[in-house]
Amino acid sequence: MTDKIVKDPKEWKEQLTPEQYEICINHGTEPPFSGKYNDSKLQGSFKCVCCGENLFSSNSKFDSGSGWPSFWEPVSEDNIEYISDTDYGMVRTEVNCKKCGSHLGHVFDDGPKPTNQRYCINSLSLKHEKDE
Ligand code: FE
Repeated sequence: MTDKIVKDPKEWKEQLTPEQYEICINHGTEPPFSGKYNDSKLQGSFKCVCCGENLFSSNSKFDSGSGWPSFWEPVSEDNIEYISDTDYGMVRTEVNCKKCGSHLGHVFDDGPKPTNQRYCINSLSLKHEKDE
């Protein structure tokens, strides 16, 4: 079991930039093609910017053309929390970091093989690290 991280909004505000806070804590969405990892070909891990949990690998990153970093699978299903999101009159599946609850993005079933999943993730929710 993952030990959850619980912080109140004030603590997150101190830790995060205003832009990160808007996405991660207020469940916002960065403008398409604005994020630093959208076009990135960096190899390694993409971790939760809030708690450091390892969420996605460059091995499953692909160019979806959507304007957001896209992955066809998470590092581990255990690290992801799935929530039904009916905002804006659409039924979507929101994905959050399971450990700290930070909002990451949404997942859609129009991704590439082998999973056919497209995890559409905000760059601002992620922190790249090279693998050792
Ligand atoms: Fe997290």
